[in-house]
Amino acid sequence: MQKNIQAIRGMNDILPESTPLWRYLEGVLQTVAASYGYQEIRMPLLESTELFKRSIGEVTDIVEKEMYTFADRNGDSLTLRPEGTAGCVRATIESGLLHNQSQRLWYQGPMFRHERPQRGRYRQFHQFGVEAFGLAGPDIDAELILMSARMLERLGLKDNAVLHLNSLGTVESRQIYREKLIHYFEQHQAQLDEDSRNRLYRNPMRILDSKNPQLRDLISRAPKMGDYLDEDSRRHLVGLLAMLDDARIPYQLDPCLVRGLDYYSKTVFEWVTDQLGAQGTLCAGGRFDTLVEHLGGKPTGAAGFAIGMERMVELLRDRRVHDVQVAPQCYLAMMGEAAQRYGIQLAETLRSRLPQLRVLMNCGDAGFKAQLKRADKSGAAIALLIGDDEVRQNRVTVKYLREERTQEQLLLEQLIERLATFVN
Ligand code: ATP
Ligand code: MG
Repeated sequence: MQKNIQAIRGMNDILPESTPLWRYLEGVLQTVAASYGYQEIRMPLLESTELFKRSIGEVTDIVEKEMYTFADRNGDSLTLRPEGTAGCVRATIESGLLHNQSQRLWYQGPMFRHERPQRGRYRQFHQFGVEAFGLAGPDIDAELILMSARMLERLGLKDNAVLHLNSLGTVESRQIYREKLIHYFEQHQAQLDEDSRNRLYRNPMRILDSKNPQLRDLISRAPKMGDYLDEDSRRHLVGLLAMLDDARIPYQLDPCLVRGLDYYSKTVFEWVTDQLGAQGTLCAGGRFDTLVEHLGGKPTGAAGFAIGMERMVELLRDRRVHDVQVAPQCYLAMMGEAAQRYGIQLAETLRSRLPQLRVLMNCGDAGFKAQLKRADKSGAAIALLIGDDEVRQNRVTVKYLREERTQEQLLLEQLIERLATFVN
């Protein structure tokens, strides 16, 4: 016996029992994004490694230790995308989509990070991301937050999540804050854990993000970015908060919210739930006003967010809310060669005449009893039976599997009429 080949750790199959829920989620997210005027963009899964190093930042968890990077056959260094924003920015610059115009875009698909697999954290996971370009004011931040709130609401998850909000200021004001933070943590070096000591001079704001409970006190007494915000960022934040208040969107100002990627500035936000254990961030985003220029484009204000779809699916799973119908409405059972040939033709005719109808055709010889068992298992509401008699009379026997109703023998047109009532 050959040894089984297994999936790569942290990369999961999404099996047929789960795909309806995924499609439901995708459908809701796409519909809401469209209702705000956002258009879909699809980027490659592979990009040059340099793109992520330059955009996400060299001193981040993603670039330091999480990327799937390899040499292409011609020696180029390529990376499986760990997130969507970098590729989206590259694509919009490259195709001239930012020339004197704004853009509102969404994308969805798999992302790849070499993390320790655990609940809510996988090595291939899926994001639904939204990005807006060419818009600098707090109004677009408000739009994005309202859109994410509406997505949660449509999915019935609004009560499960809390909005956390912070401002990271501009690069310049962050520089000043950075020095203050280093100074503060230097004075308490003995209390830092190894991770935080490593970050002290390289990316001190990431210490604020530490999940280590022993650091909580130290972090809560650290200097706050809010006290070092430049005037422009402060006004931006005040403007955004006013719009959120108008829309009655509650939020928690969270000075420790820093996000793990270098490109953020001003507004950052996360929707967090307490129902998924340690990995509770459902959706995360913010502004990235310097990224377009940093990747070679003209200075362009930008903001976006990304939803972790696995975490949404997990929350939705218990609710059985999805309305994607997948079971066939009718199962075609046939006995004998003539019936089989007649049946294949009939099934094709039914699919042509009723494009919404799902017909599952029995394959392989079996008695009617065995075929009816299969019909029942398939979830079909109706079994169509064809034997020699039916072929001779050009009729089909219709058996109702889910209701007390006598079976009948119908001609093609009658059958189509009857089946039409089962198509939703
Ligand atoms: P975290 O602090 O959880 O590592 P992050 O800052 O790395 O998050 P982002 O890059 O902002 O996460 O990704 C946006 C969202 O994508 C996250 O809020 C989460 O819902 C989801 N996500 C990120 N990494 C993973 C993963 N490895 N597996 C599943 N979902 C993920
Ligand atoms: Mg991470």
